[in-house]
Amino acid sequence: MNVQSYIRHIEKLDKQYLWHPFTQMKEWAEEPPVIITEGRGPFLKDISGKWYIDGVSSLWVTVHGHRKKEIDDAIKKQVDKISHSTLLGLTHPPAVLLAEKLMKLIHSSPVTRHPSLQRVFYSDNGSTAVEIALKMAFQYWRHKGVKGKKTFLTLNNAYHGDTLGAVSVGGIDLFHSIFSPLLFKTFKVPSPYCYRCGPGKKYPSCKLSCLHEMEKIMKKHHGEIAALIIEPLVQGAGGMIMSPPGYLKGARKLCSRYGILMIADEVATGFGRTGRMFACEHEDVSPDILCLAKGITGGCLPLAATVTSEEVYSAFLGEYKELKTFFHGHTYTGNQLACAAALANLDLFKKEKTLNRMQKKIDVLKKELEKMNSFSHVGEVRQKGFMVGIELVKNKKTKEPYPLEEKTGWKVCCRAREKGLLIRPLGSVVVLMPPLSISHQELKSLVRLTAEAVKEVTG
Ligand SMILES: *Cc1c(COP(=O)(O)O)cnc(C)c1O
Repeated sequence: MNVQSYIRHIEKLDKQYLWHPFTQMKEWAEEPPVIITEGRGPFLKDISGKWYIDGVSSLWVTVHGHRKKEIDDAIKKQVDKISHSTLLGLTHPPAVLLAEKLMKLIHSSPVTRHPSLQRVFYSDNGSTAVEIALKMAFQYWRHKGVKGKKTFLTLNNAYHGDTLGAVSVGGIDLFHSIFSPLLFKTFKVPSPYCYRCGPGKKYPSCKLSCLHEMEKIMKKHHGEIAALIIEPLVQGAGGMIMSPPGYLKGARKLCSRYGILMIADEVATGFGRTGRMFACEHEDVSPDILCLAKGITGGCLPLAATVTSEEVYSAFLGEYKELKTFFHGHTYTGNQLACAAALANLDLFKKEKTLNRMQKKIDVLKKELEKMNSFSHVGEVRQKGFMVGIELVKNKKTKEPYPLEEKTGWKVCCRAREKGLLIRPLGSVVVLMPPLSISHQELKSLVRLTAEAVKEVTG
């Protein structure tokens, strides 16, 4: 089969058999798909040989670039021993060694230490890491003899995954409202979304009034709330919404004051994305439960970890007949290949001084992005480390959003694709989240192509 007919063959089978995530398949059927066949560093190659910048790290996972030799070698080495064995009733070196490495990483952060976090529970994706955190928090209070704490406090615009528990604590109406009959009840507080502040206040003169809202609910309902679940610093899928300084720390203090566990969902922000290993470090915050996934294997294989404190863990200890066991587990929990990849990924952070080298790049990115502030339909450019949201608006003065059906964000991404840049929007927010290994020059290209696409689509 020659190349052209192979491409048509793959396209035809895709459209015949696949159902793509978060995709209106009617539209999908009308367009030729980009078929990715290769990757290298921060680039992806499609089946026709065209190269693109991977502007969102293959949906927020790629850390040191594609085909990173050390990670690939670690996987190959592990394949030659064994690819998978269960953690139910058995153990294996990669899971154990990775748990130790994660704990060391969490405990040795230069800014903050998380001395309370002690135990690693593996699963295979961000949603399961969150489900585990929710169930752990709920069951913890049962074992403590506190019966009333059976719901959660969550934020508007929160995203914690797509399984039903994770959707219950989510706050994106567009994705979540249809499922509302299936969801459990939660308490919701406003999102720290300064650009669209509900009461129309400004930071810092607002004195973080959104935290007062949180406190009001905690004060009244702490007897019912097992935990607060929060994406530290950046609400990712909600539109790259970035909380103002002091918000996270304030939330932590409130949790402690009202006897509420704090679950930090660092599935997106973890592993360097915000410029520190974990976003919690920016505000010297230690959660009671920490959810990790996406970047944990450097973006090669699915793996997740829910890390919790000795206090939570020890509440589950007892005689078998007391039924304090945490009855939860996924078949591929702690997969050997994925753990081997994660070990290599974490070694690379040290070996390549990834976080140190990233600091200058964060400044480069900032400087390049500034140019977009003057664009007539760019409402706000938000950045924390390598997480960027460019919010497009119909009217800059009134902040009137583009109507959903205009698909402005999507059009920008299509235009960027023609230019050799693959990105994916969140509504009218254009997201950039390049691999941490991207070079200064490539970063500049990334922003230049984005800016061109924004300008050409929004005028
Ligand atoms: C992506 C994401 C999840 C869900 O992870 P999956 O691996 O897609 O299930 C959960 N929380 C946050 C903050 C995320 O960004």
